[in-house]
Amino acid sequence: TSGLKRDEKGRNIQVVVRCRPFNTMERKSSYGVMDCDAGRKEVSVKTGGVNDKASRKTYTFDMVFGQAAKQIEVYRSVVCPILDEVIMGYNCTVFAYGQTGTGKTFTMEGERSPDEKFTWEEDPLAGIIPRTLHQIFEKLSENGTEFSVKVSLLEIYNEELFDLLSPSEDVTERLQLFDDPRNKRGVVVKGLEEITVHNKDEVYQILERGSAKRRTASTLMNAYSSRSHSVFSVTIHMKEITMDGEELVKIGKLNLVDLAGSENIGRSGAVDKRAREAGNINQSLLTLGRVITALVEKRPHVPYRESKLTRILQDSLGGRTKTSIIATVSPSSSNLEVEHHEQTRARGHV
Ligand code: ADP
Ligand code: MG
Repeated sequence: TSGLKRDEKGRNIQVVVRCRPFNTMERKSSYGVMDCDAGRKEVSVKTGGVNDKASRKTYTFDMVFGQAAKQIEVYRSVVCPILDEVIMGYNCTVFAYGQTGTGKTFTMEGERSPDEKFTWEEDPLAGIIPRTLHQIFEKLSENGTEFSVKVSLLEIYNEELFDLLSPSEDVTERLQLFDDPRNKRGVVVKGLEEITVHNKDEVYQILERGSAKRRTASTLMNAYSSRSHSVFSVTIHMKEITMDGEELVKIGKLNLVDLAGSENIGRSGAVDKRAREAGNINQSLLTLGRVITALVEKRPHVPYRESKLTRILQDSLGGRTKTSIIATVSPSSSNLEVEHHEQTRARGHV
């Protein structure tokens, strides 16, 4: 979270923290370094050793979710208000940002409970993506709007674009990005599959299709799951008849982004020269940090064009859009060490 600054007025960009529970291994061999106070919206991190009670750093966020926080709480507090904006016709983005293994995918996609105890839409472990799609159908069918929903799923690995919903068998097929001649802030991903979702029951099959392709990509590309960014976009076309009998067309888009592991950029958000020379940089993650800083500080120049991820999200970041960053963290001391090892190893290679 160090590279990301809070929007002072807390309006268009918010940063929330979610701490996952200890896993079995950590419970045995590590101690807790993270205390979450949801009421005060504070996270306090133990920075010294196990017996050092004095060294703590406290950080304040827009919201804090502790280890016991359920998927539905995160959905209700973070995503519901954003979905309302999308239904009004705005473009918005939710990011999951954090070290590999801290719960980004758990938060965005979620999991299935063992033994298929629940249908997917009732599953308490369902994450933001299935909950959002379900809610879109519930909300719009109930207020009588004529609407259609389209989804796409693209992934960025090493600054190349892959379509996880394409019917092609070849998962290594790359897509090209072009500026949209009709939209100053938009880009066109040529050939990106956009699937119309007719009802909420189709959603799960679509997600399964994406997961299967992702599994194949993981076997073909080195450290694919920790280095790739996954962008799930939902576009809603809505047609309403106003009181005066006029037709009102609105288009809203929501991007749900599972970012590459934050260990892919340095602690300071900067990349040292040696890592750069070794090709060890994640241009999209680095640029996203810079874009968010530029937006928060209201700088005249926002470097959208410097990475694939920020080009793709340009029409959904800044201006009248809303952005939420869910920073996922582990409660355990062992993860502080993992981060050190990773960095030492990366340097060792150079
Ligand atoms: P990431 O995508 O950041 O690499 P994952 O989402 O794969 O991390 O989570 C790593 C592990 O931790 C998974 O086994 C997942 O089930 C578990 N996990 C993460 N967050 C939670 C949570 N809030 N509650 C329970 N288990 C979690
Ligand atoms: Mg993941």
